[in-house]
Amino acid sequence: MHTTVEHELEAASLDEDSVSVTSVCPASAADEYAVPGFDAVAHLAAASLDVAMVSLVLDSGGAYWYSRDPDSRRPHALHPLYLEAARRGAGQVLPDIAADARYRDTPPLTGPLPAALRFFACEPVFTLNGRHVGALCVMDHAPRAGLDEAGREALRNAARLAGAGVVLGGYLGRTDPVTQLPHRSAFFEDLRARHKNGAQQARLIAIEVAPVERFNAFVRAMGFPYADELMRAVAARVQTWMPLDTHLYQVGATRFAAVLPEADRPLDDCQLDDLVSRLRAPFDCLDIPLTLQPGVGLLDLDVRRLDGTDPLRQVMSASHAAQRHPRGWALYERSQDERHRQEFFLVTELAAALTERTELYLQYQPRVRLSDGHCVAMEALARWRHPTLGEVAPGQFVPLAERAGLMRALTGWVLDRGVAQLAAWRREGYDIGLSINISNADFDADLVTRLQAVSSRHGVDPRALELEFTESTLLAHNDATSRHLAAVRELGAGIAIDDFGTGYSNLASLRQMPATCLKIDQSFVRAMDASPHDAAIVRSTAALAHDLGFRVVVEGVENRRIYDIVHRMACDEVQGFHVSRPLPAAAVPAWLDRAADGYHGGSGG
Ligand code: C2E
Ligand code: MG
Ligand code: MG
Repeated sequence: MHTTVEHELEAASLDEDSVSVTSVCPASAADEYAVPGFDAVAHLAAASLDVAMVSLVLDSGGAYWYSRDPDSRRPHALHPLYLEAARRGAGQVLPDIAADARYRDTPPLTGPLPAALRFFACEPVFTLNGRHVGALCVMDHAPRAGLDEAGREALRNAARLAGAGVVLGGYLGRTDPVTQLPHRSAFFEDLRARHKNGAQQARLIAIEVAPVERFNAFVRAMGFPYADELMRAVAARVQTWMPLDTHLYQVGATRFAAVLPEADRPLDDCQLDDLVSRLRAPFDCLDIPLTLQPGVGLLDLDVRRLDGTDPLRQVMSASHAAQRHPRGWALYERSQDERHRQEFFLVTELAAALTERTELYLQYQPRVRLSDGHCVAMEALARWRHPTLGEVAPGQFVPLAERAGLMRALTGWVLDRGVAQLAAWRREGYDIGLSINISNADFDADLVTRLQAVSSRHGVDPRALELEFTESTLLAHNDATSRHLAAVRELGAGIAIDDFGTGYSNLASLRQMPATCLKIDQSFVRAMDASPHDAAIVRSTAALAHDLGFRVVVEGVENRRIYDIVHRMACDEVQGFHVSRPLPAAAVPAWLDRAADGYHGGSGG
């Protein structure tokens, strides 16, 4: 006769020096998500070592128990002994726990009766690829002299088998291989079990800790081990906060969910604030500190009406929205959800458009040098013509691509298509350059490699290219940014600061960046002819930027009057509807031919 029970341990007690007894919650629906084969492994270990109890304790918060004694129950509390074993990467034998100074006063018990355990031995458990996930422990009521080599070997083999079971549990899709938390399907089983047990209402909580593009950026920059470690640390923090009797589920790479206890113990606002502040506190992961942007969503659900709804999706839409709230948590709102769904629709459509590449195209807007009216470059502007929605504005799909982690793919496409087009024009004898907009997500060491690859693929000198970064992108970055930018400069490509004036930077701080060109944002320019105030801003910014050594471009020149005003300023180039609207590629040669002897502020193209 034996029992196998899983419970969650309180990760707060993973403090190595702690000898306080940790309370644990009773078994619940998650008992079904046992490690496959654990019973058999534990049975073999108990028989060959002749011990009363065996446990598998995972460093992620799960514990599984096996006992040969029909009356014994799993311990009420997860003793620090197990917690320490789960964290150690090495085996340990305690011949007599009662003789050990650390545990003498708090002996581990097996049940309600004072049936203390005296003998303890453990071996670390590793997954097949060598990751340490916890320990297999054996315990007995009588102290022993130790463990002989045959005994140790038996325990090591059992630990190996348990490790294989942990991996198998992951393969079967029941537990997350990284955090060992049960998965989405288990979450739904938990919900349905509540319904079967007569519950009518349930409150769901979802926790999202990083926007997907940021998470992808971590993985790119730091590698999977860092991301895995981070998610384990997040899961541990959430678990220390969670009410007893509650199981945490991993429902996405950076997402967790739980069904909260019944309405007789509702959470108050302070508890939710507490959760958010725990998750906002920096994580010190593999000695690299990192701050996340958590969002906590809540949904009250009628469990009698589970069919036809997707409560997990709904509560995740609340957690997603909460990431942008100052408070960090939010209740589910239908209208918010509707927006989220539309956004989701657009994201999937955009992802498809990026694969098919038939709906995306580029337009090109000329940039003209004021001194002689020559067109120096074209700015490549992405366009998306959706088959049913029609033209979707870049102001809509560019931020969406950024949020959905699609930006690198989009930039990759623009770079390739734009540079190929530039190569064709240059072969036809048009001596112009090309500017390309680069977003936050593109900003890593890879950028230079991509730039280099695309210029050599199409045989274009990188000096003909200029990358435009917005002021906020540049400011959000650090030393690494300056290094990447310096590498771009070394390659010969130019760097422009786009939309200058919309952020909060001053020119002096931007001077630290190796930028070559500054584009004054059109919001100051468009009404310049009517607003002396705007004109003064543009004039003084242009003069200062010029003195600091930037080439100055004024964007948004919409009419002749503005063109003339700008002409008298310390400004090198202009771009705007007055010179030309963005043009389809096919229209560019004709426009260039017309402007061949210099554009002099005429009626525009
Ligand atoms: P931006 O880089 O500042 O591009 C200039 C925008 O101003 C373009 O809008 C252009 O059509 C518009 N524009 C140019 N002259 C005038 C004018 O005289 N008056 C007015 N009212 N507008 C003018 P568009 O094409 O809608 O693009 C908007 C923004 O979307 C761009 O601003 C850029 O930040 C972003 N974007 C566009 N294509 C890409 C891309 O391929 N990658 C990235 N990362 N961003 C892109
Ligand atoms: Mg631009
Ligand atoms: Mg701009």
